[in-house]
Amino acid sequence: MKLLSDFDGVWTHPREESQAQGALVDAQLVEWAPAALREAASAWIAEARRRVLAQPDLYGWAPGGRLSCFADEDPFAEHSALLHYIHLHAGIDPVATALHEAVLAPGHDSLEAFGGHTHAEAVARIEATRGPGVLAAAAEAGSRMLQGGIEIVVVSNSGREKLDRWFGHAGLDHVVHPESKPGALRLRGGARKFVLDPARSAIEAFGALSVETARPHYEQILLEEAPDAVVGDVFSLDLALPLVMRRTRPGWERVRLFWLVHDYSPMRVREQLAAHAPEVEPIENGLAGVARALLG
Ligand SMILES: [Mg+2]
Repeated sequence: MKLLSDFDGVWTHPREESQAQGALVDAQLVEWAPAALREAASAWIAEARRRVLAQPDLYGWAPGGRLSCFADEDPFAEHSALLHYIHLHAGIDPVATALHEAVLAPGHDSLEAFGGHTHAEAVARIEATRGPGVLAAAAEAGSRMLQGGIEIVVVSNSGREKLDRWFGHAGLDHVVHPESKPGALRLRGGARKFVLDPARSAIEAFGALSVETARPHYEQILLEEAPDAVVGDVFSLDLALPLVMRRTRPGWERVRLFWLVHDYSPMRVREQLAAHAPEVEPIENGLAGVARALLG
């Protein structure tokens, strides 16, 4: 039995990191705005944040302008969605135009690059004060699964060094892919699950959810690993592609798909998946729930 696991939102709860990133994004946007717009910028950003969460299937984490996950799928996505909103309104709305230019001026290549920078900075700040954030209950569930003979490979967009440090802090034995060791987690960082194929699109509809599943880096890892189960907290990033593979690829028919449902998981996604993707198993109590589903 091999479990392919996401990291953030599975082994952690990203509440504090996300709050720090949101504060950083807003503060830097206001600070960099032209002096004449600075006062208006705060109110404009607050309104833009309301708008992206009111239309989460229009805005989200959108590298290169294509939606890779929805604004409401996890606490980080809403910051990416704010930057996506600015991107879409630059050239139309004067404040969006000014903020877009203000982000590029200090040397960021794009709003997306700025988003990545603030994410890394926020995580580093929280780690410096709180320490690494692997949850005790998740570490315990991970140990239980490893001892129960389940092979676990952690496939995350987070960098390898962070995964290495955070699992080390949690006291979980681990090796970095391609090394492998029985009874230890195997880490595959920098997985780029969010990257969409520039050469093609494969939008799948699950009821009202239309999700891009042309994710070449993630697909390659899934094919290499051929897991028996996949767990993640963001349907678009973690589970939509394995679900399509389960429905279409011989040998994938019995792959189990665990969706960790948190306080931030959108009700609309819960409803659509329950009605249109019954293969996805919602799990209420974190990784402990996955251990229970697999080991009893
Ligand atoms: Mg996640």
